Amino acid sequence: YGHSGQPGHPEQPPSVHETPGHPLVAVTGLAKSFGDHEVLTSIDFEVHAGSVTVLIGPSGSGKTTVLRSLNTLETPDGGVVRIGEVEVDFSGPAPKGSARKKQLAALRDQSGMVFQSHNLFPHMTVLQNVIEGPTVVQRRPREEVMGEARRLLDLVGLAEKADQYPYQLSGGQQQRVGIARALALRPKLMLFDEPTSALDPELVGEVLHVMKDLASQGWTMVVVTHEIRFAQQVADQVLFMDGGVIVERGTPGEVLANPRTERARQFLQRIL
Ligand code: ADP
Repeated sequence: YGHSGQPGHPEQPPSVHETPGHPLVAVTGLAKSFGDHEVLTSIDFEVHAGSVTVLIGPSGSGKTTVLRSLNTLETPDGGVVRIGEVEVDFSGPAPKGSARKKQLAALRDQSGMVFQSHNLFPHMTVLQNVIEGPTVVQRRPREEVMGEARRLLDLVGLAEKADQYPYQLSGGQQQRVGIARALALRPKLMLFDEPTSALDPELVGEVLHVMKDLASQGWTMVVVTHEIRFAQQVADQVLFMDGGVIVERGTPGEVLANPRTERARQFLQRIL
């Protein structure tokens, strides 16, 4: 593991070196309920630096809630989430005052998220959308960020669209801007929540292509998707969820080609 990201070249993943037994991401006993509805029950998994984890499973099985918990868009009711050096324990009482907020902010900063639909700012150009977070939130120097943003747009194949507005782009191009925008924040981990499910079928391939490029460059990724071929080609680890638990886990060859449980077999038959 570990990739030599050069400083100032965000198209390279951050250099994340693991020590044995210390994966980049460790989730233990993650639990979440909405009211009486227990949506996640003691989820455990690890993600190694430079690897791709794909979460699959039926609608409502809890995949998005796992992803949103990593990014603090949901606050778990139990368990421990660690990304990099930032660990938040949700099992006991929350720390007093602003301490919890600071913990959550630190955890959130570890990952970048790409949503089902892009949420780009409609009144800003593509380039402005990409530099907004790094300049306004992270307060990095505008000139430096501009150079990075242009390289990232090149990486997602949209260098020539920098000065256009989101409405002038196709859905697939908008999603690729969304990816560049998330990368611009230099996260250690990239999260993708069904990034192609809102797209017309002919636009799915270009987004998956960018994601494959990122994977081969060594980005650490957790992806919720129904694109089984993508999972077969790119995933190091597949987690099959059903009813708020991880029912099967393993390589694509194990979980997708030779599922052990009837639940996974039935799910895969339905979507293939
Ligand atoms: P998946 O991504 O596998 O489709 P989700 O994580 O989106 O599953 O949802 C898991 C369950 O949690 C579903 O039953 C869903 O209705 C419920 N759920 C998700 N978010 C909320 C929420 N904010 N309030 C209430 N229920 C929710």
